[in-house]
Amino acid sequence: APAFDVDAVRRDFPILSQQVNGKPLVYLDNGASAQKPIAVLDAMDRYYREMHSNVHRGAHTLGDRATAAFEGARETVRAFLNADSTREIVWTRGTTEAINLVANGLAGRLQPGDEILVSRMEHHANIVPWQMIAERTGAKVVPIQVTPEGELDLDSFHSLLNERTKIFAITHVSNVLGTVNPVKELIDQAKARGALTLVDGAQAVPHYQPDVQALGCDFYAFSSHKLFGPTGIGVLYGKAELLEDMPPYQGGGEMIERVSFERTTWNTLPYKFEAGTPAVAEAVGLGAAIDYLNGQDRRAMEAAEKALLERANQLVETVPGMEIIGTASQKVPVMSFKIAGLHPSDIGTLLDQQGIAIRTGHHCAMPLMDFYGVPGTARASFAFYNTLDEVEQLFAALQKIQRLFA
Ligand code: PMP
Repeated sequence: APAFDVDAVRRDFPILSQQVNGKPLVYLDNGASAQKPIAVLDAMDRYYREMHSNVHRGAHTLGDRATAAFEGARETVRAFLNADSTREIVWTRGTTEAINLVANGLAGRLQPGDEILVSRMEHHANIVPWQMIAERTGAKVVPIQVTPEGELDLDSFHSLLNERTKIFAITHVSNVLGTVNPVKELIDQAKARGALTLVDGAQAVPHYQPDVQALGCDFYAFSSHKLFGPTGIGVLYGKAELLEDMPPYQGGGEMIERVSFERTTWNTLPYKFEAGTPAVAEAVGLGAAIDYLNGQDRRAMEAAEKALLERANQLVETVPGMEIIGTASQKVPVMSFKIAGLHPSDIGTLLDQQGIAIRTGHHCAMPLMDFYGVPGTARASFAFYNTLDEVEQLFAALQKIQRLFA
């Protein structure tokens, strides 16, 4: 495979070559949402120019084209995740809706006293849906603790996993800390105790290609917009026998086999979970994003990302009072930090004036902020299209901000 050429890759992302506040844009907010390559923009444009129609109607040629493009994208996602069948690939609005779908679908299996094991480093999307179901069923949401370095506390995991654990829902990668959790081992142990397992892959897929069969999880969720695809669509992978057993999430068109006022029956998988006209162009866009990634040397990309994080870590000591939150040994290129004497939101505003985009705040992970005793952090999150030069620019700006304002 050809060596990874970041300049060539950046030409695929037109949004990156612009000025913001009079400075070249340095986009380091990829964890919140990633940018889209021309291949995605073109695929969606072409879809609307040449084939748009409603899907699964079979009455005319455009409908057939749209259906083929839509179902082709589902197959692309199946292959990306190494799922057994496209019956196991359900389109959702994103990770959030995928987890809500599973929580609702499993509610019937929960009884008072049952436990849903999550962790303190979860995004609210992998906490709140479980709390809502716990409220309805009398089950309890139990958090695994984290270590000061930002790794899962495995002693806490072992002591909390027990025969009452019915569901184990864990993030693959922390959006705040960048920590890569040892999900395979955790899933093995949870399954041995009879728990169902869900992995929140929102922050993992932009960096790694997961293999759901190797992981052995029952459910895996991710969002297109963090994987260089469009907003408004995401994926729930679920094992077919579990999806078969779960009630539908929403009712309406598409999800039924036959409707009558006496008795309505459900469509086959995955359509049972896809009520209403789906996000067809967005599915096509996500398929194009995955095709784009498949056309790259992903090992070389990973190495390039690793180099960005290493350079950032080397430069931390050049900013007096800067402290990294999350120093796990296995990390994706995400750097949460604080600087003594500066509020995170001021860091964000001052960086923006330099054309540098980061995220500040609680990152939808308030229980984790509470653990670290901070209201929020500043977070730089890198993608493969970021450069070492951009890392240097970030730190040059942080040095200046610290000197002038801390
Ligand atoms: N989980 C994690 C780990 C995330 O980072 C995010 C997005 N910040 C979500 C879930 C929710 O994703 P979405 O808003 O796309 O549904």
